[in-house]
Amino acid sequence: VTTRRLRDVGEHRWIAGLVRRLHDDMAASGRVLVGPGDDAAVLRASRRPLVLTVDTLVEGVHFRAGWASPRTIGRQAFRVNASDLAAMGATPVAALLALEAPGDTPVATVDGLAAGVAADARALGAALVGGNVTAGRALAVTVTLVGDAGPRLARRAGARPGDRLFVTGSFGARAAAVRSLLAGRRVRWPLAPVRVEAGRRLAAIASAMIDVSDGLLQDLGHVCRASGVAAVVDAARVPVAAGCRRVYGAAAVAHALTGGEDYELLVAVPPRRLRALAALRARLGCPLTEIGRMVAGRPAVHVPGAAWARGAGGFDHFR
Ligand SMILES: [Mg+2]
Repeated sequence: VTTRRLRDVGEHRWIAGLVRRLHDDMAASGRVLVGPGDDAAVLRASRRPLVLTVDTLVEGVHFRAGWASPRTIGRQAFRVNASDLAAMGATPVAALLALEAPGDTPVATVDGLAAGVAADARALGAALVGGNVTAGRALAVTVTLVGDAGPRLARRAGARPGDRLFVTGSFGARAAAVRSLLAGRRVRWPLAPVRVEAGRRLAAIASAMIDVSDGLLQDLGHVCRASGVAAVVDAARVPVAAGCRRVYGAAAVAHALTGGEDYELLVAVPPRRLRALAALRARLGCPLTEIGRMVAGRPAVHVPGAAWARGAGGFDHFR
């Protein structure tokens, strides 16, 4: 059996097949007036402001061949974008997928990538409404998301001294898995969590919010700079994923705070809204843990008793 490759099928035939498979999603979404297959997609506007974001996963940078199925990589490409919308309190409505792939890429690979994006979009009531495919040297998956703002938008700016700091879920699992995979161990490449519902609800009471993609300390630093305040983190209270403890042992906490790719939400809550927070906790769909507070001072993140945290950054593509 010979593998069908992108160059055998060609751009137009591959897109035509994909468009047919997406047909039911368009019918199910009340927002899509023109779906894939025309020059551009057309969405019905809602009364809420639109929230837009884009992110790319590149083979050799974000993942390596064989780490995960194409479908899983497609789902991850959707989820890293959904995480940015969640951090604003927004909900995905429509996705665009831009693929860059070498001509010898199996058709099954690009089919899987597109199916993964469409599946996770569908699970949140959103639809894959269009995209582009182009020849390139490496596989690169770019997803653009259009979302509806929730009742209240959360920003990185707005945290005040005295606000309490909370995080969803746990930290360090993805960084630990990538370390194991790079060492040649066969472990699962974990998918980012979906925190859209939590983000929508937390935005209603947050003074500031961000999703943790580059490391908890680094992303908290972004909140501090945007808000003009400092933060104190109690490292002992940060929820460390079991997989991170297994891989890093005594250094697990340090890796959980700096590893990145957690896609959990970090939220500052004013003291006067703590009762409202207690009331919505059970409806977030995930654990929420208090890890510190905002304090007056020059923008900086302090981790008392942790010498490793001084000057500890997170992930930076160009350093
Ligand atoms: Mg973000």
